[in-house]
Amino acid sequence: MSSLLSYLPPVRGRIQENVPLDEWTSLHVGGCAEVLFMPEDSDDLIHFLRRRPRAVPVTVLGAGTNVLIRDGGIPGIVIHLGNGFRRIFKEGNTFEVGASVIATTFAEQAAYEGVSGFEFLSTLPGTMGGGICANAGCFGRSFKDILLEVEAVDFCGRIHWVPAKKLGFTYRASTIPKDWILVRAWICGQILPSPLILKTMEEYHATRAATQPTQTRTAGSLFKNPEGKTAWELIDAVGLRGTHLGGAEISEKHANFLINTGHATASDLETLGEKAREKVLKETGVSLSWEIVRLGVPFPEETAWEERIQAKKGVSS
Ligand SMILES: Cc1cc2nc3c(=O)[nH]c(=O)nc-3n(C[C@H](O)[C@H](O)[C@H](O)COP(=O)(O)OP(=O)(O)OC[C@H]3O[C@@H](n4cnc5c(N)ncnc54)[C@H](O)[C@@H]3O)c2cc1C
Repeated sequence: MSSLLSYLPPVRGRIQENVPLDEWTSLHVGGCAEVLFMPEDSDDLIHFLRRRPRAVPVTVLGAGTNVLIRDGGIPGIVIHLGNGFRRIFKEGNTFEVGASVIATTFAEQAAYEGVSGFEFLSTLPGTMGGGICANAGCFGRSFKDILLEVEAVDFCGRIHWVPAKKLGFTYRASTIPKDWILVRAWICGQILPSPLILKTMEEYHATRAATQPTQTRTAGSLFKNPEGKTAWELIDAVGLRGTHLGGAEISEKHANFLINTGHATASDLETLGEKAREKVLKETGVSLSWEIVRLGVPFPEETAWEERIQAKKGVSS
């Protein structure tokens, strides 16, 4: 059987097969990407997407700080935007930011350039692209408060420019289609002296360090807070703080953080998360929903790409 790579178009960026993804995520678990593609730039990405066989699924991976990749890895193509999507341009109090810029890096640069409004980003470890998709936020602010517009490329290689007000932002969610890859964003702040901005950032860091296990293998909040309640209080109320399963742990420090103590499998982490969800539902009647995005399959799969690709061609012709 030919490998998936042999069915894919030539690219200028890096493309590799069977890439272990555990080191690409903050939970440090998960199997391989069947194919991992890091486009050189937007043109490379668009060219690849327009020519890829439609039968092959595509998954986007940012900095991997909000995902749980299952032990069997991710079948098909995983796209990770690298250096070609890391540029920052400033004009007055507005920035054009590449989707793979790390939010903390952007917040620090904006602070030194005297633009405020992004202090909360200084404690978010993911990329701008990943954060916008989830409307990530903290300290009372989220991406919806600072975003003007995004540029995205869909999985068929079409480009979209969309103003922020059309992205359907709500708490930790947006209506950005699942088959879009954000490549750039335009963001707006307010001019303020750098020392004031840096002082707020320091306070945010101190608050985080005191209340959350940020220096561990985690992916941030396990569940979204349900309307009018907090997930950590519900998990605490059913006695699960500090619970272990294999190498997975519900943090002692913050009950809504799932931790890999060092030797967890993705299955340990997902099973413990699901057990917590079930217990909270049974004992409190509240149905929690995962904030961490689960990707991939529990066991490695071998796909007959030749047949799948031919079948899809048959359907569309
Ligand atoms: C210690 C810690 C603390 C955290 N605290 C918070 C917090 O306070 N608030 C909060 O909201 N989050 C928090 N998080 C979660 C996480 O940092 C954010 O959600 C972050 O914005 C995710 O970005 P990422 O690049 O890591 O995305 P990933 O984890 O790589 O991906 C997350 C999702 O976004 C999609 N995605 C990624 N990049 C793109 C793109 N360019 N285009 C389209 N889709 C894309 C992926 O397909 C996936 O579905 C925390 C995480 C950690 C580890």
